[in-house]
Amino acid sequence: MAKILDTVPVWDWGFFTEPKPCVIAGPCSAESEEQLMRTAAGLKEQGIHMFRAGIWKPRTHPGCFEGVGVPGLKWMQKVKQELGMKICTEVASEKHVYECLKYGVDLVWIGARTTGNPFLVQEIADALRDTDIPVLVKNPMNPDLDLWIGALERLNSAGVRKLGAIHRGFSSYEKTRYRNVPQWQVAVELRSRYPELSIFVDPSHMGGKREYLAEISQKSLDLGFEGLMVESHCDPSCALSDAGQQLVPDDLGKLLASLVVRTPDIADAARETIEQLRAQIDVIDENLLYALGSRMKISRQIGQYKKDNNIAIVQANRWDSLLAAVVEKGSSYGLDEQFVRNLFNLIHDASVQTQNEL
Ligand code: PEP
Ligand code: MN
Repeated sequence: MAKILDTVPVWDWGFFTEPKPCVIAGPCSAESEEQLMRTAAGLKEQGIHMFRAGIWKPRTHPGCFEGVGVPGLKWMQKVKQELGMKICTEVASEKHVYECLKYGVDLVWIGARTTGNPFLVQEIADALRDTDIPVLVKNPMNPDLDLWIGALERLNSAGVRKLGAIHRGFSSYEKTRYRNVPQWQVAVELRSRYPELSIFVDPSHMGGKREYLAEISQKSLDLGFEGLMVESHCDPSCALSDAGQQLVPDDLGKLLASLVVRTPDIADAARETIEQLRAQIDVIDENLLYALGSRMKISRQIGQYKKDNNIAIVQANRWDSLLAAVVEKGSSYGLDEQFVRNLFNLIHDASVQTQNEL
C-alpha cells in the first residue's frame, strides 16, 4: 500500500535558489584531482554550485573503469573547500554512505541500478537515518513506478525528508534514438501522485549523446520539473566513462542560457498550468502514435502470414470479439462506447487496407 511522502521541497534544502531549473553538474566519474578541479572551476564560472562526480561506478562489464573510490572523495572535498561548491555523488551501499558522511558530501543519489534493489535501498536508508543529508533517487532501469516509489518510501520512513527523484529514462532491448527511453508519463504520474516531491531530469543518461541534451532539458522544463542533473567534463574526449554524452562547462552554460524557463509569476499560474497539461497531452499523443505504429507493424506481419497461407484477411468472429473486449475495457477507463467503436473501426479499416496492399 503506497504511503504519503513527507518531503521538503528542493527550494528549502539551502542549495538552490529560484528561478528554475536547479542544476547539478559535473563529470560522470571522478578521474583525477586535476580533472575535478578544472571541471568544477569551469562550472562555477557558469553559475553552477552543486558539483557531481561518480566515485564508485556501476559498470555493465567488469574490467571497465569502476571509479577511483575513496581517494576521489578527497578531491571532492578540495572542490568544496577551495571553490566553495556543494558536492554530491552516487551511493550504492551502506559503506558508500559512511564514506560520504566522513568526507562532508552534501547530497547523495541512488543510481538506477540500485533503486531496483529493495535490500540495498533499505541498507542505504538505514545508514542515512539521523542524518540531514538530501537524497535523490533515480528511477529504476525498468519502468516500474511502484519500485521507484518504494525506494522513496524506504528513505522517507528512515527520516529522509529532503528527498527528490531523478528521471533518467528506462532501458529497452530495442535500439532507440535515446540511450534510455524517456517514458515521460512515468515521471508525470509520479508528479501527480506526489505533487510536493521535487523532480530532476538527467538528460545525459537519458539521451546518451551531447546533441540531445538541449531538447530533453527543454522538455523537462516544459513538463514543470524542478531540476537538471547534467554530466560535464573539462575534456570529454578523454573521459573514462560516458564520453559521448558529456560537454565542457562553457557549452553547458550556453545550453542552460538557451532554455526557455516559464516564469512562476502568479498571474501566469493558470497559463502555466495549461501549458504543463498540454505538454503532458503531447507526451500521451506521442505514445499513442508509437503504439499505433507498433500495432500496424504486427498487423503487416499477420497479413504476410495470411497471404503465405492463403487465409482470408477479415475474420468476422475475431473482429467481433476484439471489439467487444475493447468496448468493455474502454468503459472501465471512462471512455464512451460509441467513441471506442468508432476509433477501433478506423484502426481496423486501416489495418485491413494495409494487409490488402500486400
Ligand atoms: C550516473 O549518474 O553516473 C549514473 C551511473 O547514472 P544512472 O544510475 O542513471 O545510470
Ligand atoms: Mn555517466
